[in-house]
Amino acid sequence: MEEPVVRKYIAAGEIAERVKERAERETKPGVKLLSLITILENYIVELGGRPAFPVNVSINNEAAHRTAYIDDESVLPEDGVVKVDIGVHVDGCIADTAITVPFSEKHRKLVEAAREALERALKHVRPGARVSDVGSVIERAIRERGFRVVKNLSGHSLAEYTIHAGDTVPNYRDPLNFARFRPGTAYAIEPFATTGRGVVSSEKRVSIYSVRPPIRRGGAPEEHIVENIFGRVRTLPFSERWFPEMASLLGVGRFRKALENLSKLGYLVSYPVLSDVPGSYVAQFEETVLILDDGSVIVTTSKSAL
Ligand code: MN
Ligand code: MN
Repeated sequence: MEEPVVRKYIAAGEIAERVKERAERETKPGVKLLSLITILENYIVELGGRPAFPVNVSINNEAAHRTAYIDDESVLPEDGVVKVDIGVHVDGCIADTAITVPFSEKHRKLVEAAREALERALKHVRPGARVSDVGSVIERAIRERGFRVVKNLSGHSLAEYTIHAGDTVPNYRDPLNFARFRPGTAYAIEPFATTGRGVVSSEKRVSIYSVRPPIRRGGAPEEHIVENIFGRVRTLPFSERWFPEMASLLGVGRFRKALENLSKLGYLVSYPVLSDVPGSYVAQFEETVLILDDGSVIVTTSKSAL
């Protein structure tokens, strides 16, 4: 990996770390989802980065992929367990990091289980180590504390402008996963602990999409929407909030409907909200690590993580 690229990964990580600190302060009961997310996304830009995906704020049994709609009136609930997942890129080099904020003492053990799992996992990331061994460490840390891991969510390798670059880092011991950590590669490690079943499923709600390449032509009247979005964010995930001019031109309802339709037609990938069973609680922590060509490992999104 070229030195300038390494520098960009580190720069993205430093921005992500500061945004995460801000998220920790701003995530409180009664705060509007839309204002929290807007503050954090604006802060990314203020610090010189770009959002690699819409800031995700997933509540209680929601594990991932919830962001605010443009007209979202939701408020963070009392007693909630709130995950804030932040992606920053600098010229396509991505830092992906997440925290969980519990609003009640009763969720503290769950949150600590996920935090501890990540801490232990990071100590096992080194070139040549099997990714499944890291999964094993995560699973043990979370089970020891009486919770389940979410089996169908996993860490992943990252590439330029690509959040899921091909390798997965399971959150459990997966004997069929023979992948090993490779030098010159960035990985996101992200354990999820849950009081639920340990399996998330897709809800009907979708607030995040991305353009699916290559863009086809001549198939849908809304193709100009796809072109416009691709021009701004390429194939990175986006929110309707990032295109207020289209929302006001078409009306929010019609714009949202168009995105839905474009995903049915295959122009867009949709990322539905992923949730464990109703009434359960999910906690997540995530850091991005970079394995340099010389084999040394750095956590780009937190100075204190290794
Ligand atoms: Mn993430
Ligand atoms: Mn991730």
